[in-house]
Amino acid sequence: MTIDPDPLRSQALAFATGAEKGGKYLQNLSSRAVCADKANIANLRFPLPDNGMRPDDVLDLIESAGANGSVASAAGRYFGYVIGGSLPAASGARAMLSAWDQCANADTGPSVVAMESTAIDWVTGLLDLPPQVEGCFTTGATMANLTLLATARDRQLDRLGHARGKGLIGAPALRVVASAEIHATVLKSLRMIGLGSDNIEFVPTDAQGRMRAELLPDLDASCIVLTQAGNVCTGASDPFDQIAGKCEAAGAWLHVDGAFGLWARISDKIGNRLTGLERADSWVVDAHKTLNAPYDSGIALCKHPEEMRASMAIGAGYLPAVDPTPADLAPEFSRAARGAETWAALLSLGQTGLKDMVNRFHSHALDVAKGLRALGFEIPHDVAFNQVFATLPGREDACAEITAHVQNSGEAWFGPATWQGRKGFRISVSNWATTPQDIDRLIGAVRAALANTQR
Ligand SMILES: *Cc1c(COP(=O)(O)O)cnc(C)c1O
Repeated sequence: MTIDPDPLRSQALAFATGAEKGGKYLQNLSSRAVCADKANIANLRFPLPDNGMRPDDVLDLIESAGANGSVASAAGRYFGYVIGGSLPAASGARAMLSAWDQCANADTGPSVVAMESTAIDWVTGLLDLPPQVEGCFTTGATMANLTLLATARDRQLDRLGHARGKGLIGAPALRVVASAEIHATVLKSLRMIGLGSDNIEFVPTDAQGRMRAELLPDLDASCIVLTQAGNVCTGASDPFDQIAGKCEAAGAWLHVDGAFGLWARISDKIGNRLTGLERADSWVVDAHKTLNAPYDSGIALCKHPEEMRASMAIGAGYLPAVDPTPADLAPEFSRAARGAETWAALLSLGQTGLKDMVNRFHSHALDVAKGLRALGFEIPHDVAFNQVFATLPGREDACAEITAHVQNSGEAWFGPATWQGRKGFRISVSNWATTPQDIDRLIGAVRAALANTQR
């Protein structure tokens, strides 16, 4: 192979081509089916050739064989899981920063670290959390939960006289107390940090999916209590004030998983449903869900940063000991500059724009519920934020067919769900680009699917 005398020129050209193709993709998105067309995906699977392909040809192949095989979740008619799109500034920042390719630590990426730590400060302020809170960016809420639960585990064990360095070997037992409707990924985080998921003391939930604080078991200093801001089916948040009082009295660690729902706190309309959560010890919120930063980006926030540092800092001999760096708080050592993308997202919105977006998700969700009720569906919960669980009274089994019909129509996409023993489907309004017309098309697609099942 000949050596290119100006290697970065070819990178710059490929970068421009990639950005151009990305722009073209976005422009075509609103007219295509939301679901993936998998016909050409097989063209991406073949043995690695002996000789490399030119960058332009690689990008052409990705476009021709891959673009239609993507899910159009970047546009406004995708309502599955809790999946946001990417705000323009964040999307552009990702493209630009991919050229920088910074390893986001103090001495390897000073400017992106400045944006990242500013973003953490902004988020802490927006959520009105205590001033001593610090945090880090992770790949998502699963890893953010893991980071904070490992910190909580270490702190509780340390207080019981079992020093951090000993790990779980010979450790006294901890108790994990959690909402019966805690997100499934939290169980995985618990398994990954050695606490398992079989021993959890589950606290029953009410008809909105909120933890019933009066049914909390007696707590003590060996407890980690797991609550949530934003039930994934109903959007409801746990009664933090009552739970926090019991945790404080017992010396239990109170953790809040607010992957998508924590953002509701900044709303002047629904934020008051999340009062008291500032009394917790740790919080998780995703940037890639409600905030509409690109994947993958979660945030772990902790009221005891010295405990987080004690659990997460690396301290290898060759590392500068003086500069605080994100890797001191985060699970990863080498890290993407995802915090800078969230900085860009927040800056492009401003406080007012963010509040408007959060309120818009809620009002769209109210419109979805209204539209579905008019078609005969039951929404067995209050629309607390952006999530709507719907079922068809007396015909719950038809919901799977209706869901599949809508998915296959390409008009919109959402998934089937079961909540509190009832079968139905779940709609999440999480994309900045969703318009009232998109909501109309969603309801229209459900109407058509319903008519189809009644034929
Ligand atoms: C999505 C979600 C998670 C997991 O977050 P990831 O970013 O996908 O890792 C955890 N908790 C809740 C409530 C969620 O909605």
